[in-house]
Amino acid sequence: MVSRDLYPLSSAEPPFFVGIDLGGTNIKSGVVDNRGRVLGYAHLSSQVEKGPEAGARRMAEAACNAAHQAGIELSDATHVGLVTPGTMDIRAGMLLEPPNLPGWNNFPIRDQVSQHTGLPVAYANDANAAAYGEFWVGSGASYSSMVLLTLGTGVGGGIITEGALLDGANSHGGEIGHMIIASDPEARVCACGGRGHLEAYCSATGLIARAIEAMQHIPEVERNLLGPEEDLTPLILHRAAEEGSAFAEHMILETARYLGMGITTLLHILDPAAIILGGAMNFGGGENPIGKKFLSTIVQEIQAKALPVLSRNLALHFASLGGDAGYIGAAGIGRMAHDQEKHASS
Ligand SMILES: [Zn+2]
Repeated sequence: MVSRDLYPLSSAEPPFFVGIDLGGTNIKSGVVDNRGRVLGYAHLSSQVEKGPEAGARRMAEAACNAAHQAGIELSDATHVGLVTPGTMDIRAGMLLEPPNLPGWNNFPIRDQVSQHTGLPVAYANDANAAAYGEFWVGSGASYSSMVLLTLGTGVGGGIITEGALLDGANSHGGEIGHMIIASDPEARVCACGGRGHLEAYCSATGLIARAIEAMQHIPEVERNLLGPEEDLTPLILHRAAEEGSAFAEHMILETARYLGMGITTLLHILDPAAIILGGAMNFGGGENPIGKKFLSTIVQEIQAKALPVLSRNLALHFASLGGDAGYIGAAGIGRMAHDQEKHASS
């Protein structure tokens, strides 16, 4: 369990759904009731090097452990939602060439997990599932449409409009980090190789790269407060800003302005009711003075750049599910598939 308490089975509302969130390091699995409350949780190391067939069995094992933790058998659950990093073909249920799961190329992961769990499996992208989790029971729960941006090593995201998750024609909808926000020849290079992408400015990696460049132009005493540049992290910048470093605060708020630029484009295209910011880089969240300034700077940038009708009603919040968002969202995707099948057969 990452952060929440388990909800008691005796008060839970059936049917029950199993979420499986496969990452490069861990498999997280949770049993969730019809209202998104977590009844059981288990995690196992992914052991990616043992290959995808062993991985599919391990995912079923994690799901079984979560079911027992919840006090049910896996067969008591109705549907599994499985989420993985891309690249993937969602309709075919296939992993294609996932960089975080080396050697798992062209693997029919949905059907394999279905075979080992004995349950029908719905398949989705992990960042999109995290968005769905926040939409279902997290910070986005009171809105009809929302966009999640996750700020971590990269910038991920997911888009939900009128209750539906946007998978896209090629299973890669919601790749918000690769939105182009700068077009000059000197624009920063993204991890994907493209130039001027949001991720190159607003990910933890992008912030640290910009800070190290800018550090060359500040007085030595101020630079020394930040420690060796090879050890610099967003957390070190956050602490320094809290202790009064104008440089650290400037770098953090510059990140907010770039984000505001990207979010302005999202508002103009999608007109979502809410923007939710997830991921590890949250500067202490909405209650922290720096986290609060980070949010208000994003809002100012949006107000300066977006059509007033879009910025006026915008809700902007930090995410609330943390590392649980992926498997809770996965279970929610299983629930959606279950509802669709029920309607199709009635
Ligand atoms: Zn990119």
